[in-house]
Amino acid sequence: MAGEFELIGRHFNWPAPQGFLGVGDDCALLPVSAGHRLAVTTDLLVEGQHFFPDVDPEALGHKALAVNVSDLGAMGARPLGCVLGLSLPHVDDAWLAAFARGFRSMAELSGCPLVGGDTTRSSAGVVISVTAMGEVPLEGALLRSAAKPGDDIWVTGTLGGPHVALELLQGRHPEHTTVLEEVRVSLERPLPPVSFGTALAGHAHAAIDISDGLLQDLNHILKASACAAHIDYPALPVHGALQGLGPELVQRAVLNGGDVYQLCFTAAPEAKGRIVELARQHGVEVSVVGRIAEGSGIQVMDSPLPMGQDDYAGYDHFR
Ligand SMILES: [Mg+2]
Repeated sequence: MAGEFELIGRHFNWPAPQGFLGVGDDCALLPVSAGHRLAVTTDLLVEGQHFFPDVDPEALGHKALAVNVSDLGAMGARPLGCVLGLSLPHVDDAWLAAFARGFRSMAELSGCPLVGGDTTRSSAGVVISVTAMGEVPLEGALLRSAAKPGDDIWVTGTLGGPHVALELLQGRHPEHTTVLEEVRVSLERPLPPVSFGTALAGHAHAAIDISDGLLQDLNHILKASACAAHIDYPALPVHGALQGLGPELVQRAVLNGGDVYQLCFTAAPEAKGRIVELARQHGVEVSVVGRIAEGSGIQVMDSPLPMGQDDYAGYDHFR
C-alpha cells in the first residue's frame, strides 16, 4: 500500500520557485516580504457533499485550489504557495493525472505553487484538503470589519451561473437543459479575480469572496462592520445565459446562489476611479451594486419579485 501511495507523489512533484524550499524536507520554506503578514486559508472538499463522484477530475483539481486562492484575493493577499492533503479510496493513475493537471494549471494561473502535501487511504470517498498561504501588507488587508457607511458595494464578474448549473445537474428544470452548456464552466472551473483582489489592498475597505451567495456573504461583512446595506437589484451583474429563465429562479440564483468565487467588496466613493482602472488592468468586470448605510440588515431595492424572509437567508451547509 505504501508503494502504491508513494506513486501519488509523482503526480505532484513540481519544482519549487526560486527562493522556496518545496517537497523533500520536513517542511516547505516560503519567503515572506518585509512589511507583510502571512495570510492562511484552508478548505475541505468531501465527495458527495461538495462535488459529485463522477465530476471531471481535472475540473476538480482546478476548483480545489481556486476556492482557496479566492479567499486569499478576498483578503487582499498575494498567493505564495499551497499544500495539498488527499485521502483516496484507491489509486487511479488516470484520475490522479487529470486532477494534478487541473490543480497545476490553477497554481500557475494564480501564482500559487504547490510546496508540499500528504496522502492517505480513505475508507469512504475522496477527501481533498487544500491550505493556501499568501502575504498581505501590514496595513492593507481587506477585513470583513472594515466597511463604512457611505461605501459603495462592488461585485466582480457575474452572478447566478453556478447556482443554475448546479440545479440543472441535479435534474431540475429539464426544460432548460440547453443552458447547462453555458453555465457549467462557471460552476466547475471558477476563475476568482485573485490578482485584482491583491491590488485592492489599501484601496478598498472590506471584502469577501462569494461562496455561499451574495446576500449571505455580504451579511458577514455587515455583521462584522455593524452596518446595513442597500442593494440595487437592477445593477446586479446577471450571468448572460440566465436571460430566458423564470424570474423566480434567476432572482434566487443571483441573490442566494453560491459557488461564485467572485468578490463582493466595499470602498469609499472617492476610490471609484482607481478601482475601475485596476479592474481594467486586471481584466476584471466590476459593478457598483449598492451602498453601505448606518444600521443593520440588507434591503434589496427594485427586485423583479417581492423579497420574502426566506430570500434573505442563503445556503447553509448544515441545513
Ligand atoms: Mg471565503
